[in-house]
Amino acid sequence: MKNPQIAPIPAASLNPSLPSYLAADHLGPWGIYLQQVDRVTPYLGSMSRWVETLKRPKRTMIVDVPIQLDDGTHAHFEGYRVQHNTTRGPGKGGVRFHPEVTLSEVMALAAWMSIKNAAVNVPFGGAKGGVRVDPKVLSQAELQRVTRRYTSEIGVIIGPSKDIPAPDVNTNERIMAWMMDTYSQNIGATATGVVTGKPVDIGGSLGRREATGRGVFTVGMEAASRMGLEVKGAAVAVQGFGNVGAVAAHLFEGAGARVVAVQDAHGTVYKESGLDVQRLKAHHDKSGSVAGYDQAETLTQDAFWDVPCDIMIPAALEQQITTSNAPRIQAKMIIEGANGPTTPLADDILNDRGILVLPDVIANAGGVTVSYFEWVQDFSSFFWSEDEINQRLVQILKKALDAIWTTAEEHKVSLRTATFIIACQRILHAHDLRGLYP
Ligand code: GLU
Repeated sequence: MKNPQIAPIPAASLNPSLPSYLAADHLGPWGIYLQQVDRVTPYLGSMSRWVETLKRPKRTMIVDVPIQLDDGTHAHFEGYRVQHNTTRGPGKGGVRFHPEVTLSEVMALAAWMSIKNAAVNVPFGGAKGGVRVDPKVLSQAELQRVTRRYTSEIGVIIGPSKDIPAPDVNTNERIMAWMMDTYSQNIGATATGVVTGKPVDIGGSLGRREATGRGVFTVGMEAASRMGLEVKGAAVAVQGFGNVGAVAAHLFEGAGARVVAVQDAHGTVYKESGLDVQRLKAHHDKSGSVAGYDQAETLTQDAFWDVPCDIMIPAALEQQITTSNAPRIQAKMIIEGANGPTTPLADDILNDRGILVLPDVIANAGGVTVSYFEWVQDFSSFFWSEDEINQRLVQILKKALDAIWTTAEEHKVSLRTATFIIACQRILHAHDLRGLYP
């Protein structure tokens, strides 16, 4: 019965496409993801009847992560693990430690993992995790306590056949080792397959560390040859000089390209004839940033977007390419090393300007592809050579890109929409086969 005393529910929270707790949060990464799904729905044919399942995460967990700081006081951090979809296999996706990470961001990142894993056809669903913490202000001991408590809290929903975390922004092999150990201690058995991106000595895979950057390079080279772009001598601008940006820059330099600009959170360096990537990396490793590198010019952060270049690689965070800089970008091709670096409106501007965008969900899929190899190796306790891994990686990415390219031409859509068409078809077809329980 209606209670007249209860105030009417605001219209926004009645939006049926959003879970009620997110009704007000229409913008940001999750809003972008929902728009991407809406764009692709007309191409899903009979499978579109299941599309609602992609618009809400299967399982969302928020945990409190209390730790003792080195000075004896206590601090609480908020942690998340979102399993967006597990229809094609266990949840799979990284964990990021960042002071600004939010639940809706992790939801979007988990959803993009579902799309990515389906696009490269590895037997995983999509998941992601995060802790709202600035790891740079923690000691190693505090970081270990945050990692272990977070792992223990999400321990009930992760596992080698349930959901497998991996590195993402500000997390690395060291942190994966602690996660693997914590989970293993809690269940009383060594479970190497619970996370990927581990050190090689405890079940990690050769080639995993470089895999995302190698994937960016592989997909970029393949697309360049399809569009007739000569990589030798081409100018490359890279945003983000972490595990993805630095490896991609190194590989493009090796292919004869000039890495003319590199930007990170603290600075932008530019050299028309090409930066020496190895030297820049040594400076970055020592000082923590590309800023202050004296073998190049320094640019303002905003000037990065005006740099004359042929290839641009955003390999940092979300929502970097927006309506304010998309009209200024001079590149012929953008390879999205980061997850969600381009807003939908900016995407339209780039498409209208004839700039080819290799979307995140294929461009950075190299990482999770080698994560899949790591997981398989852990299950069989039989480890492959680096050559074997790199060969299989290239094979999978080329095959995926070929299918995406054909779909894009067939429907006259962007590569992003084409990737979503293929991925959503695969997920929803699996959903159709499995049926709805009960
Ligand atoms: N964090 C990486 C990504 O966004 C890798 C995920 C994984 O290996 O599971 O794709």
